[in-house]
Amino acid sequence: MQDLKEKLIDINVILVKSGKLNPRYKYVLMKKPEYLQYIVEATSFLKYDAPIKARLQCIVQDITEQPVCKLCSKPCKMTLNGSKYNNKFSAYCGRKCGGLDSQNINRATSHPA
Ligand SMILES: [Zn+2]
Repeated sequence: MQDLKEKLIDINVILVKSGKLNPRYKYVLMKKPEYLQYIVEATSFLKYDAPIKARLQCIVQDITEQPVCKLCSKPCKMTLNGSKYNNKFSAYCGRKCGGLDSQNINRATSHPA
């Protein structure tokens, strides 16, 4: 996977200075579609149908194992937009387990069970 990361830096999908994902990665990969397969292969440890952005973030962050739910051990998904938890795997497989384990978090926004 390290080799692939270096190649992704070479083609500017990962920014060399910051080590972060290039916001224009889609544009780069459109020109180099063969890399999509490499990225999927390098992240085949993911047990869910992860979007390419999540797979790239795994490579960026050197994540090499599928994180699993703290409660039920199902695969967790990476949060990709809309919160400060961007580009991190959630600790739980979904709201149900998260809600069971931390009932006083997000009380203001949670829905009745
Ligand atoms: Zn769970």
